[in-house]
Amino acid sequence: MTYLKNIMGTVKSTLYENFIFIYSLLFITIIPEIIMKINYIGYYQKIGKKIEFVSHSLLCLIFFLGIFTLFALLCSRIKLSWLRRLLYCIFSGVIIISDVLGIYITYMYKSNITPAFIIPILETTYSEASEYIATYISVINLVSIIIPILVIYGICYLIKSKITSKHTFFKICTYLACIGWICGIVFIAKNTMSHYAMPVQSIYYSMKDAVQQREELENLERYTNEQNENLTVQHVGKGIPNIVLIVGESENRNHMHLYGYDRDTTPGLDQLAKNHKIAVFTDVVSPHAYTTASLSEIYSLHHYENPDKWYNTLNLIDILKKAGYHTSWLSNQESSGNWVSVANFLANRNDYKEYTYLRDSTSDLYDSYDEKLFPIIDKVKSQNTSDKQFYTIHLMGSHASYDRRVPPNWRKFELEPTNTKADFERNAYDDTVLYNDYVLTQIFKKFDDTDTLIIYISDHGESVYEKDSKLIGHGDGQLNRYMLEIPMIMYGTDTFKENHPELWKKILDAQHRPYMTDDLPHTIMDLLDIRVNGFDASRSIINSQFNSNRNRVIQGHDYNNYYKIMTNDNL
Ligand SMILES: [Zn+2]
Repeated sequence: MTYLKNIMGTVKSTLYENFIFIYSLLFITIIPEIIMKINYIGYYQKIGKKIEFVSHSLLCLIFFLGIFTLFALLCSRIKLSWLRRLLYCIFSGVIIISDVLGIYITYMYKSNITPAFIIPILETTYSEASEYIATYISVINLVSIIIPILVIYGICYLIKSKITSKHTFFKICTYLACIGWICGIVFIAKNTMSHYAMPVQSIYYSMKDAVQQREELENLERYTNEQNENLTVQHVGKGIPNIVLIVGESENRNHMHLYGYDRDTTPGLDQLAKNHKIAVFTDVVSPHAYTTASLSEIYSLHHYENPDKWYNTLNLIDILKKAGYHTSWLSNQESSGNWVSVANFLANRNDYKEYTYLRDSTSDLYDSYDEKLFPIIDKVKSQNTSDKQFYTIHLMGSHASYDRRVPPNWRKFELEPTNTKADFERNAYDDTVLYNDYVLTQIFKKFDDTDTLIIYISDHGESVYEKDSKLIGHGDGQLNRYMLEIPMIMYGTDTFKENHPELWKKILDAQHRPYMTDDLPHTIMDLLDIRVNGFDASRSIINSQFNSNRNRVIQGHDYNNYYKIMTNDNL
């Protein structure tokens, strides 16, 4: 007991003696967290969620109090005063520099430090990297962060001169520091240290992740370059000047009024369909139920019948480039992260790429609405001078968490009174479908003055407690039809229909054919009158040789004979 009392006494006196060191660092470290919480607390409607949101920061704070106290305790054992001072300087320096960076990024980009900010540096040469840093970090902004840090030090110095070691404050902090140590042990044991990261840890984890992601990308690039040596373009016809592929996210067509859903979730598309402006494909499924796997199939000539890996086949972007198309990738999805490695690889293959934000899969996504793509589309469209253009527009669409996808003024169903979590999620999901309808029709309008064909598909569907099942979300592990049944829509501008009447007719005639989007590159090549080695007319939905008897096998089961006839009992 006396032993424990002695330890507590030592901790308490360490906390007092190192007052300026510990508390100033603690304050500086918590600033990015405070900025994030102020930015986003409004997104949580329920008080319970708000408390959960804030308590995470308190846990971080206690954990860091433990770390700083432990460091001071260990240092006090060192007899050589110059060594002690040196260690203090190095430790404080590392923490302060990472905190300044953390504060800066949180303040400017409403994001934590993530690999998204590190990867552009890894991708560039030294001179480009310094240019990148110069564009993202300005001296004035840096100074405006350093001044408050100096003020914090000043305040800590003043408090220290007024306070005695007897103060109850130190007693409380002694207990908190001990709790911080226990937290640290628990985090290590549960391997969740990165969840409780403040700037210095974030930088470490981001660097580690960024290097790993970069290596993966380089491997994919190597395979692709090898493949492209075999790519021969056999024929390029007149084609279409502009082709846009909008890749939606997690949109289950059974929640679209256009496809028969009872709620009015697609007023814009309904109107276009009524006026015969769009072709609505009624029997299309995705080859997987998660983004990375779906994208790798949508953009490559790979299909499940081919035992090879997708990256050992030709990809659509490189084919189109070789056929004379200027390619652009405009994305509202993450610019880095383990969940978007394929998307990033594909984006890199384009002549031009732009993301709405620099952000990682692990970043908190709140106000990243798809309409943020509008100005980017306008800009890229007006800057492009090439007479053949291919655009990918990658939406955030209906990705969970649904209530974060929709600007507040678009929340319609979410406001309806609900009794269950399932009802709430369904309502929030339907709002994303409604908002997506707006986003799509706005993008269509942007191309109305040109000869353009726009194709919209979702990467995969989503299960949203369909028919009272317990499933929400998507993934290949527990598949059901709702994760696979996706919309596919084609919109031709008036000029397109005037210039290519026979093509539009082919499109309209194909609307009820069964299709899986792993064959989409063949349809796109066919639409653009491009022939390369590997093109297969029987895989193009608009071709007279189209094979409508192809089994659409997903994870070993045929869609028609398995997923489509699933009853609620096995959902
Ligand atoms: Zn997805």
